Amino acid sequence: MILIDLTGKTALVTGASQGIGAEISKTLHRAGANVVINYFDDPQGNNVVAAQKIVAELGDRAICCEADVRNAQAVQAMVAQAVATWGSLDIVVNNAGIIRDRTLKKMTHDDWDSVISTNLTGVFHLCKAAEPVLADEGRIINIASIAGVFGFFGQSNYAAAKAGVIGLTKVLSRELARRKITVNAVAPGMIHTPMAATVPPEVQAKMIASIPLGAFGEPQDIAHMIAFLCRDLARYITGQTLHVNGGWHG
Ligand code: NAP
Repeated sequence: MILIDLTGKTALVTGASQGIGAEISKTLHRAGANVVINYFDDPQGNNVVAAQKIVAELGDRAICCEADVRNAQAVQAMVAQAVATWGSLDIVVNNAGIIRDRTLKKMTHDDWDSVISTNLTGVFHLCKAAEPVLADEGRIINIASIAGVFGFFGQSNYAAAKAGVIGLTKVLSRELARRKITVNAVAPGMIHTPMAATVPPEVQAKMIASIPLGAFGEPQDIAHMIAFLCRDLARYITGQTLHVNGGWHG
């Protein structure tokens, strides 16, 4: 139960067919927003099925839209579809992300490029496409990671991309301040999602031992922070990285 009214606002969330993005979409929808659930067209077709299931669950005020965030034209078309459907765009959440963890010795150029193009360039693509149509007093929220601040072993590509997202967030907060658009990053710690499930159990156990609150977070913990940032109450918060990590600082 959250006491946030986003009635009449339109939110677009990338990578929203599962995990944190799905939970953000549901939470913003529950708060009254129209939501565009972006999904990636995977070869097995799992994501379209998952996205359509969420839309069916939510009923009205929700559509799903295929776009690969690495593709600037596809992202632009998705933004156009959001505006054509609801007449405005108020909230953009850059959530889509991947991991390809390897030490520098084993990391291929493709591992590097795919993570940077999805996790960093993808964020740029959506910010660039959304900026001309984003409503004044709108919101851009970029999902970063504790990894972008701490720099875990084997994550040079991921940490560089997420640190880049934090830098991009700071710059855009200055550039869009004139229109009272706030731009913030949310940096999750470890959150129970399909992505986190790829971490070996013994590594998960070590991580939990370092987290003061003694557990991984849930997608809702991130979604609630996003909902708060969308509120008028958060109008004076911009250019920040909000950490949601159970007190974990590496
Ligand atoms: P997830 O369950 O893997 O969800 C990420 C979603 O993004 C997936 O649906 C994925 O589709 C989609 N995606 C991948 N490439 C895309 C592309 N090119 N275009 C559009 N969508 C694409 O991961 P999550 O844990 O919910 O993570 C969400 C965000 O939180 C990510 O940015 C991640 O880096 C960040 N984060 C997560 C954690 C955590 O512990 N879970 C911690 C810190 C930060 P596919 O499944 O088909 O690839």
